Amino acid sequence: MNAADLALQRSFPTVMVPRREPAEPMQAFGERLLIAQNGVFLEINQPWLSLVRRIAAYSVATAIPYGEVAESTRLMCERVPEALVGEFARTARAASPNETGAWIVWSAATQRFRLAPVTILSHSASALRYEPPILGPDEVRVVDCHSHGLHPAFFSGTDDTDDRHEIKFALVIGNCTSHTPSMALRLCAKGVFETVERVPAAWYAAVRATLSTTEAL
Ligand SMILES: [Zn+2]
Repeated sequence: MNAADLALQRSFPTVMVPRREPAEPMQAFGERLLIAQNGVFLEINQPWLSLVRRIAAYSVATAIPYGEVAESTRLMCERVPEALVGEFARTARAASPNETGAWIVWSAATQRFRLAPVTILSHSASALRYEPPILGPDEVRVVDCHSHGLHPAFFSGTDDTDDRHEIKFALVIGNCTSHTPSMALRLCAKGVFETVERVPAAWYAAVRATLSTTEAL
């Protein structure tokens, strides 16, 4: 086969899931497709996340001689520290009514998180363009944060387009200058969007605490 297709297929292989044993675990970070009896699954293996999701079902009840696969989610990193969400809320409030952004990144070597600011190219009350932060060699993005200024937190059509090819949690903070800003959180995995219905209460507490501290100054 030609070199270009070979490289493409190596970067995103397809596996026929065995019936009598689990599929071999992925040997490297990346993605692959699992063809199983119960559908077609996307498997993602990142330093901080491994995830399996069904992305297609068969439209014909034909016999597929392969094994079954179950969806799964495994987070290798610890819980995202709420203090970093509070720190981003403070930045978002200072930037409001304009939008702003930052990444919460995690180091597999040190197991630590930090808030990495983005370099803003242009921002307004309804748009944001930025250069991603420069990360250390063992750092990965876990949460992509952006703000909606005075508007409520939600995922817009632009957000859907921006997030379509990404693997991350996406966090939006809205109503940035109110006592309790609104938040929207979702997991993005190469086109799979899963809204987190309940943003952690500790995050709301951190955001409120941050604003109270600011107000007290
Ligand atoms: Zn947005």
